[in-house]
Amino acid sequence: MLDSFGRSIHYLRVSVTDRCNLRCAYCMPEDGIPFVPHERIISLEQIALVVRAATGLGFNKIRLTGGEPLVRRGIVDLVAMLGEIPGIVTLAMTTNGTLLAPLAADLKRRGLSSVNVSLDTLDPSRYAALTRGGKVNDAIAGVRAARTAGLPVKLNIVIGENDDLADLATVSSFAADEGCSVQTIRRYRLDEVKFDDERYERPSPCAICDRIRLLAIGELKPCLHGDASVPVDWNDIEKSIRACVGLKPACGSRASAHLVSAIGG
Ligand code: SF4
Repeated sequence: MLDSFGRSIHYLRVSVTDRCNLRCAYCMPEDGIPFVPHERIISLEQIALVVRAATGLGFNKIRLTGGEPLVRRGIVDLVAMLGEIPGIVTLAMTTNGTLLAPLAADLKRRGLSSVNVSLDTLDPSRYAALTRGGKVNDAIAGVRAARTAGLPVKLNIVIGENDDLADLATVSSFAADEGCSVQTIRRYRLDEVKFDDERYERPSPCAICDRIRLLAIGELKPCLHGDASVPVDWNDIEKSIRACVGLKPACGSRASAHLVSAIGG
């Protein structure tokens, strides 16, 4: 469907949880965050209802995000449910990969079409520091299991303004060895005004924005860098999606209402 600026909005990013097994420094405060109570998190069936309504309006790309989507109980069943919905061309996931190895084959078999794995460094101590305790070998095992399962894998590397690019070089050669692609993401803060920077592949320029987001609390977000959101009306989901698309700004400003970990980037 088109938004009020004539952009084709056909990509729905679905944050299935605000929880994560890691504490990445640029995403979560050291002590973590007060997680949303379970009773406020929408069910897998409700997520499938929103996705089905969205495909009815021409959405054809769905990405499952978090927090960390693989900590959500029943995530493989959700992929199976979504895999049956007609009209989805891409059913993708963004994960930190540390829980992926035992699940990759099942996710592929049930309908997942591709996976992005966040991998900012291959250095075990820097990875542990950045993720506050993560093991890089778990993420590497996840990447390899996804490749073995036949899933296209893109490695997301978040780069800060003053970061040296040594990690980008090592992650890029690892990607080449493993048959993966690499996507550079400029480190950003939601409470800063969004600006486009062609040196990085992401965040993408607002002029070609194609997405909205579904939060795990059952709200639709027109823009990452904005506080607007539309609670899903379960009696008329299409109306909620249209209202969300109608609220899309020409370009992002800044946001304070939700943390990145609850939006899924
Ligand atoms: S900041 Fe908002 S308008 Fe810009 S690309 Fe992101 S979601 Fe789209």
